[in-house]
Amino acid sequence: MPKKHGPHRRASRNEPAPATKLRVSSAPDPHPPTSADWVGAAERIEQRQGPEIALPTIRAAAGIATVEPGRPFSLAAVDPDADGGLDKQEAKAMLAAERARIQDLQERLYAERRRSLLIVLQAIDTGGKDGTIRAVLEGVNPQGCAVASFKVPSAEELDHDFLWRYHARTPGRGMIGVFNRSHYEDVLVVRVKGLVPEPVWRMRYDLINDFERLLAASGTTILKFFLHISKDEQRERLEARIADPQKHWKFDPADLVERKSWDAYQSAFNDALNHCSTPHAPWHVVPANRKWFRNLVIARTVADTLEAMDPQFPAAPKGIADLKVPD
Ligand code: ADP
Repeated sequence: MPKKHGPHRRASRNEPAPATKLRVSSAPDPHPPTSADWVGAAERIEQRQGPEIALPTIRAAAGIATVEPGRPFSLAAVDPDADGGLDKQEAKAMLAAERARIQDLQERLYAERRRSLLIVLQAIDTGGKDGTIRAVLEGVNPQGCAVASFKVPSAEELDHDFLWRYHARTPGRGMIGVFNRSHYEDVLVVRVKGLVPEPVWRMRYDLINDFERLLAASGTTILKFFLHISKDEQRERLEARIADPQKHWKFDPADLVERKSWDAYQSAFNDALNHCSTPHAPWHVVPANRKWFRNLVIARTVADTLEAMDPQFPAAPKGIADLKVPD
């Protein structure tokens, strides 16, 4: 049954058309990133940061394309098949090591209880968001980690500004929060399906940047991953869901309808990546046809980012070493 994005999704009364028409152009002359760009992107972004917000280093593992703020970017320039020259078994062993780092650092973040990490996952249907969450966060203390999955908005959510439901699920101090789909849906599916008028979704790029800036200024490090798969890979994944009874629950016939809008989604993704990659919340594009490579580079980026945040256990109470537990 098709999903209900519905005619009920109104150009809501609390979202007036902007007073001035905002100009948001699509990337005119995309500059293909080279692997040298990818490796150095995090450092360059850090250098461009304004002095007003103290941010930890936001690092991306080699193999991920970081969208540089202000520099035209196109998904077409990133090979979804990229595997970093690694072999699957080797990558799986490396993933285990990255998980161990994440588990150790997450415990410190939780104990410190001063800052938080928000991991945003976006992808086309079958892009691998669920599998990424399972693979990267396996073994992390569930108390210190919260996954928020965003579906078609409820009537109550539609009665508020579009960011309301996302803001309510941002991670508190000490927490790692994962957005499985996110506020970007409001410039992606909403745009592709024409659920609000164009001036309304165009205005949202700036509002999203402001929202993320607020989070960053409030102690949240933001890691945004776009999982990049090819159209052929999507066909294979959909066929696998149809063929395997164990995967039927994952199959949604509406995905076949959405697939017809593949090009419109790619354009919407490109615009979101170009307009909303900022120094405080850059987009990282992950080659995602090979699940094991995707998992490894995301896990490594999460581990490196937590390490750069350098969370510390709180100071022990004075004289603790001399205390005796009474009988
Ligand atoms: P998933 O595909 O993430 O595993 P579902 O199959 O339940 O989960 O799909 C969730 C659906 O909700 C997707 O089709 C997505 O486009 C839709 N959705 C998410 N956010 C919004 C939004 N803000 N407006 C309209 N539809 C949305």
